[in-house]
Amino acid sequence: MTMPAIPEPQAGGLLRIDLAAIASNYALLRKKTGAAECAAVVKADAYGLGAELVAKALWDAGARTFFVALPYEARNLRAALPDAVIYVLSGLAPGAGPTFWDINARPVLGSVAEMEEWAAFCQSNNLDGDAAIHVDTGMNRLGLELSETGPVADRISTGRLGFKPALVMSHLACADEPDHPLNKRQLDVFTAIRKLFPGVPASLANSSATLTGGDYLFDLCRPGIALYGGNPLPASANPMQPVVRLQARIVQIRTTKAGETVGYGATQTLHRQSLLAILSIGYADGLLRAAGSSDKANGTNAVISGRRCPFAGRISMDLCAVDITDLPAGAVKRGDYATIIGDGIGIDDVARAAGTIGYEILTSLGSRYTRIYTP
Ligand SMILES: *Cc1c(COP(=O)(O)O)cnc(C)c1O
Repeated sequence: MTMPAIPEPQAGGLLRIDLAAIASNYALLRKKTGAAECAAVVKADAYGLGAELVAKALWDAGARTFFVALPYEARNLRAALPDAVIYVLSGLAPGAGPTFWDINARPVLGSVAEMEEWAAFCQSNNLDGDAAIHVDTGMNRLGLELSETGPVADRISTGRLGFKPALVMSHLACADEPDHPLNKRQLDVFTAIRKLFPGVPASLANSSATLTGGDYLFDLCRPGIALYGGNPLPASANPMQPVVRLQARIVQIRTTKAGETVGYGATQTLHRQSLLAILSIGYADGLLRAAGSSDKANGTNAVISGRRCPFAGRISMDLCAVDITDLPAGAVKRGDYATIIGDGIGIDDVARAAGTIGYEILTSLGSRYTRIYTP
C-alpha cells in the first residue's frame, strides 16, 4: 500500500508528515472525549496523508475503532491493523455482503434497503453481522429517515433485526459553527432517537463536536480533520498541532522589469522591478489554482529565507511564482526550498487563500512529492 518514495532530486517538493503530532492530537482529543471512546476517521487515505502509516500511529496512540468511506479502504486498513474495528461510512452497496465479511469490516447502514440486505446476508450465512445504523437528523445525506427508526427499534426489541446493531450514529451539518441552531436541533433529535435503541452505543460527534464536548460526546466520537492539524472550531485559536509540512524547490530566480506581468492570463502586473522565485509545484500537486494571486486578490504565501513572501500570478500545473523582491540581496539561491505549508502557514491559511477548507487542501495533496514520515 505504501508507494515507494520518490527520491528527493527527482521530485518537485518535500511533504513531511509528522506522525508524532498525529499521536499527540489523538491524545488531546481523547482527553476531550472523557469516558466516551475516541475513534479515528481515516477515510480518503487518512485525508491524503497515507492511511497505512497514519492508522498504525493512531493504533499505537490507543485508537481501536476506525472509520473509512469505502470497502477498498477498509481492505487496505485491515492489512495494516488486523485487530481494529473498521466501519465503512458509505454503507453497503448491492451484493457487497461477502466483501464486508471477507474484510471483517462493518457497514454503516443508512437505509432500510441496506439493512434488509445485510440482515438477509447475515442470516443465510449464520453471522452476527455487527453493523452501525445511521440515522439522518438534518443533514439530508445518508441515514434512515426519522419515521423509519421506530419500526427498526421494534425489530431490535423483538429480536427480528437479523444482525447485531453495534452502533447508532448520526452526523452534524454545522458542527464547525457551534452557535448554529441546527446543531441543537440535531442533538435533540438524536438524543430522542437513541432512547429507541437501548444498550446500543451512540455516536454523533466529528472533530468540531468533540471539541465542543458536553452532550455531543455520547459513547463514541469520530474525529478526522483535528487529527491532521485542521482547526475544528475556526472561530477560536487552533488547539491542534500542525501535522503537514510542504516545501517546494526553487528552480529559477529571475528579475522582471516594472510593468511586466507574470504567468498565464497576465493576471498580475508587477509595478516595480521585481525578483521572482519559480517553484516546482503546481495545481497538479494539489496546490489549488484558486490559491494564486492576481491584481484583484492576494493568493497564498510562501516562507523563504524565514520571511513570508506573496505568490505572484496564476498557479500553473507544475510551477508557480513567488515575489521575493523584499528579501535581502542574496538571501536565496536556486535549489533552496520554499515552505508552502509550515513555518506558521497552516492548512487553514492556504485554504482561506483558495476559498476552500483545510480538508480539501489535505485531500488534494499530490503524489509527486518526496514523502517523509517523521515518527
Ligand atoms: C468525515 C466524517 C467524520 C469526520 O469529520 P471531521 O470533520 O473530519 O472530524 C465523522 N463522521 C462522518 C459520518 C464523516 O463522514
